[in-house]
Amino acid sequence: MKYPSSWFVRRCLPLLTFAFGLGIFDPALGGGQLERGDNARGRGPLEVPGLLRAGLVAGFIGVPLDIGTSHRPGARFGPRQIRAESCLIRPYNMATGAAPFDALQVADLGDVPINTYNLLKSVDIIEQHYGPVLDAGCIPLTLGGDHTIALPILRAMKARHGPVALIHVDAHADVNPDMFGERIAHGTPFRRAVEEGLLIGDKVWQIGLRGSGYSAEDFDWPRQQGFTIVPAHEVWWQSLTPLMAQIRERIGPDTPTYLSFDIDGIDPAYAGGTGTPEIGGLTVPQALEIVRGCRGLNLVGCDLVEVSPAYDTSGNTALLGANLLFEMLCVLPGVKYR
Ligand code: MN
Ligand code: MN
Repeated sequence: MKYPSSWFVRRCLPLLTFAFGLGIFDPALGGGQLERGDNARGRGPLEVPGLLRAGLVAGFIGVPLDIGTSHRPGARFGPRQIRAESCLIRPYNMATGAAPFDALQVADLGDVPINTYNLLKSVDIIEQHYGPVLDAGCIPLTLGGDHTIALPILRAMKARHGPVALIHVDAHADVNPDMFGERIAHGTPFRRAVEEGLLIGDKVWQIGLRGSGYSAEDFDWPRQQGFTIVPAHEVWWQSLTPLMAQIRERIGPDTPTYLSFDIDGIDPAYAGGTGTPEIGGLTVPQALEIVRGCRGLNLVGCDLVEVSPAYDTSGNTALLGANLLFEMLCVLPGVKYR
């Protein structure tokens, strides 16, 4: 499909596509999209030439997968409701002055056609889906889905960029050696990522960790890898802007950096629609400080995972997720401020 360049298309259509999944690109439909939780039109493999022709800089991608969850399922419906709640989002960031659609071509690329019956196959499908997106120079902004999806995305990131720096917001470290004997699950992606050399170990921050555990040593392993752990209780009542300044200083402006944001990093008072809630979490202003504090980094991808709409019938959690994804878009390299 030809990509026209009118004001409407540049300013409005990206938002509409984010909101409703109208789709600037129209690849072949996949089968069983309803069961997978795809949006209005299910998507098959992406058309890479189409992406290149459009000069797409950023693409929202849904990954409606929740068969890696250990407790309450339902995150497969995250992308669908995040898109629904995104219809309220306007194109200009009143707080930061970011006008992402002024300079960036942005589109909703639909959902990854995962296999609802097979987690390992789905992980491979996700990795294969992201490869062409990254090769086209497009920065993926992912709507999860449970946190398992970070592993195949980081695998694709390594193939394109090499190991990446990581800013990981979460109540949980997600570095279990296994869960119930399984090595691939939503509580293991960052253990696997270290083992596979996907991360720059001394440029990883885990922010918002908390909750009950199994032993005092739960967070020792990530620290041994060089990770910086920022437990939630250590930053209660504090601005996270100074922390983000330290992180930018340590990472530097050129290092490829990935932002993985588990919505359960935020307190369940604000984001109860998630599968593994933990009390005493980050506030919404702190979440905004983290994302806005990523401005100036070489962000190569971001995700917002673990929104599970059934546990928050108000839609607030998905609304928050949609806004955080907009904030991520606002700090990508090349965004104009006015
Ligand atoms: Mn997580
Ligand atoms: Mn979590």
